[in-house]
Amino acid sequence: MAFTPPRPLAILTTVHFLRQFVKLSKEATPGLVSMNSTFATGLPTSYSDHFSEIAQYNVHLNVLEKAWAAWYAYMQNDVLATGIMSFVIHELIYFGRAVPFMIMDKMPYFQKYKIQAHKMPTLAEQWQCAKLVLLSHFTVELPQIWLFHPAAQYFGMSTSVPFPSWQTMAYQIAIFFVLEDAWHYWLHRALHTPKLYKKIHKLHHQYSAPFGLAAEYASPIEVMILAFGSVGVPILWSAITKNLHILTMYTWIVLRLFQAIDAHSGYEFPWSLHHILPFWAGADHHDVHHEKFLGNYSSSFRWWDYVLGTEAGSASDKAAKGKKAAMAKAQ
Ligand SMILES: [Zn+2]
Ligand SMILES: [Zn+2]
Repeated sequence: MAFTPPRPLAILTTVHFLRQFVKLSKEATPGLVSMNSTFATGLPTSYSDHFSEIAQYNVHLNVLEKAWAAWYAYMQNDVLATGIMSFVIHELIYFGRAVPFMIMDKMPYFQKYKIQAHKMPTLAEQWQCAKLVLLSHFTVELPQIWLFHPAAQYFGMSTSVPFPSWQTMAYQIAIFFVLEDAWHYWLHRALHTPKLYKKIHKLHHQYSAPFGLAAEYASPIEVMILAFGSVGVPILWSAITKNLHILTMYTWIVLRLFQAIDAHSGYEFPWSLHHILPFWAGADHHDVHHEKFLGNYSSSFRWWDYVLGTEAGSASDKAAKGKKAAMAKAQ
């Protein structure tokens, strides 16, 4: 039976339009006519045709790998295939992950988990925020996402199947988390120096009680500076090791988006990750940064702020009290 992937109508229409556009542009190029003319001879033209053909001749691949290979075969243009996939994944995860928190805002049961319960974001505020985020996604991020495939290929990132093992993906993603966190700590801390704060970072601090959608509410310059940690680090890794699959990159970006939206969600639960991993930052860490404007500069982990004495909020209050008590004892 043919495999039909679930795709929203709007995406399907856009993809069809882009594919037709690419096909027409190629037909206008003499060297590529023969490749496209084969479509008239009964070779696969729809996504499910490509999937069936790949499935028939590549029985060793799993369903995801077949779906992946069929997508690239169907698109006939790797730059577009990667570009569309990257943009759609980013939008679906970013807005999709924020929705559950917006629903919780309306449910009295969850109020007890809201960190700054007295500052509930209104729907109008969230819509205002979403509009700027969308504008930034389409004007600043979309062109960069489009450049991603050529850059990835230049630096030796693989897009082929089979996929790497989960162990390879896991250790690489763990390294990206650690390196991104270090980049984020130092650059975010630099963005809090008076000049840079006023010119660049102030916009992100518009909401002193953040909510999920505010994760990427920032100046385009800030988006580019901090995005280097998320996108530039894996590209550098690929350039040095020549061992990175684009699926690992996608999985990392999805996890990093989850981290950023959770950190801005404004909700602290008894089951939040930092209760299991005490060095994980989470909303408990970043919410205080928005409330107090100072301290807690890192993104995923607490170690930089802890070691360099830049913790904000109750953790630092406790530490300061501890230090004071120790000093008083010593005197
Ligand atoms: Zn900040
Ligand atoms: Zn923030």
